[in-house]
Amino acid sequence: MRISLIHERGALSPFLMKMFVDGAWVESESGESFEVFNPATGNRIDTVPKGTREDVKRAADAAARCYRKWSETPAIERSRVLFRVSQLVRDHADGLAELLTSEQGKPLNESKGEVNSFANSCEYYAGLIGRERGAHTPLSTGEGFFIVTRRPIGVVGAILPWNFPVSLLGWKAAPGLAAGNTFVVKPASTTPLTDVKLVSILGKAGLPDGAVNVVTGPGGVVGEEILGNPKINKIAFTGETATGRRVMEVSARLIKRVTLELGGSDPMIVCDDADIDLAVEGAAWGRFRNCGQSCTSVKRLFLVDAIADAFVKKLVRKTKTIRVGDGADPQTHMGPVHTGAQRERVEEMVEDAKDRGAEVLTGGKRPRGKELKRGYFYEPTLLSGVDYKAKMAREECFGPALPIFVVKDLEEAIERANDTIYGLGSSIWTKDIEKAYDAAEKIQAGTTWVNSPPIARAEVPFGGFKQSGFGRELGVEGLEHYYEPKSIQVYEYGKGKKWSFPI
Ligand code: NAD
Repeated sequence: MRISLIHERGALSPFLMKMFVDGAWVESESGESFEVFNPATGNRIDTVPKGTREDVKRAADAAARCYRKWSETPAIERSRVLFRVSQLVRDHADGLAELLTSEQGKPLNESKGEVNSFANSCEYYAGLIGRERGAHTPLSTGEGFFIVTRRPIGVVGAILPWNFPVSLLGWKAAPGLAAGNTFVVKPASTTPLTDVKLVSILGKAGLPDGAVNVVTGPGGVVGEEILGNPKINKIAFTGETATGRRVMEVSARLIKRVTLELGGSDPMIVCDDADIDLAVEGAAWGRFRNCGQSCTSVKRLFLVDAIADAFVKKLVRKTKTIRVGDGADPQTHMGPVHTGAQRERVEEMVEDAKDRGAEVLTGGKRPRGKELKRGYFYEPTLLSGVDYKAKMAREECFGPALPIFVVKDLEEAIERANDTIYGLGSSIWTKDIEKAYDAAEKIQAGTTWVNSPPIARAEVPFGGFKQSGFGRELGVEGLEHYYEPKSIQVYEYGKGKKWSFPI
């Protein structure tokens, strides 16, 4: 079976995608809708309902009803359902990937990778949930024992960004469902289509109605209602640090459980003993994959003086070979920036760096070419001599522009790398494993990759230090965030303390 997917229909034949709530396709109660555009062509792809606070309430009610059933479903059955979900998603991977590319812009192969990552997360947690062990511990006084069990938290509000709409849904829904929670999902307004399709597939794998609901619409309405709704017990948020602050503020009123995966300004450090060719490939891949719009994209490159000139020459050569185009074209290496506003932010950062004395080594402008006119394309860009006070050195540069810094040694590189409010990812490139380990311990970031660009794996916990957020997704740690630990103390008759006054 192949899902009927909506591809670009152009302005003349719009198609109204609905939301998926309580196992059914629904419209917004307001009857309003908004359009979704292809960032490579500017064409309208589809129209989705503009969800309201009432729509979120309806979804939260459905998720709360379903929670009673799903949380009591035996772990082995939850595991089976997740394995079926992953199989169904793999069966539909090509169609989902095409849809994702049309709304997000990334090349088809990257979209396929994202869909596979969703399936990997389901498989990983389906396997984990069937293998859990606990312990029975005697009380220190010998009066009895205690056990710590865990209960799922309840209804989770998953709020998603536009850069990885599919894999990040998997990072949340797979562990959350495995643990017995239910979901209200809010996709980013510019990338709702693949998430709605995915959620509609989940029901076919045997998830009960209401286990995962998706409400499309603006952050200020749908997102805010998710944060404030009393039936939603936990917020799993991925997005900008500024929005994360708002998530914490509103969630604090109801003491909601919160995990925040926020922005980053990841350093890549190349030592003088690194394999230069490998590191050049890693820098290009790490910065220009997803058009530089990954939370863990390489956003600042630190080169130790001794290898800097040779490295820069090779990186410029490599960067010039990156083919920019529509992600639907199999020849494309890098798609468009996701929106016009996002491209302007990158352009402003490049201009700011130039004003402060930076030199553009390659790129630095919109590419020419008739077929690229209507999309939000920007050339893969390298800059040297960037002032440490420049915006792209201090803030998150979310697009295909990479500032290169030359440092005298590893010590200076680490000091500079840590001089940021962020602490998400980082990488160190050297053949000396002791040096790598020592540097990894000193770099203030949730993950340090050694001799690799940033690649997330289902089994490895992922998350930020400092203002890149808190909590972890993926790995065993990612599952723990979907439980409340529950302690049970058991006293043997006759052995317990006597409870009489005076105490
Ligand atoms: P964003 O913060 O603008 O939006 C994220 C989501 O929050 C969207 O669904 C948006 O509609 C919603 N939202 C906006 N205002 C809201 C409000 N007041 N209440 C509730 N929800 C609201 O982020 P974005 O531009 O979509 O994504 C890019 C950002 O995400 C980058 O900073 C990137 O680094 C970060 N990111 C982090 C990770 C990670 O794992 N740490 C992963 C991917 C992306």
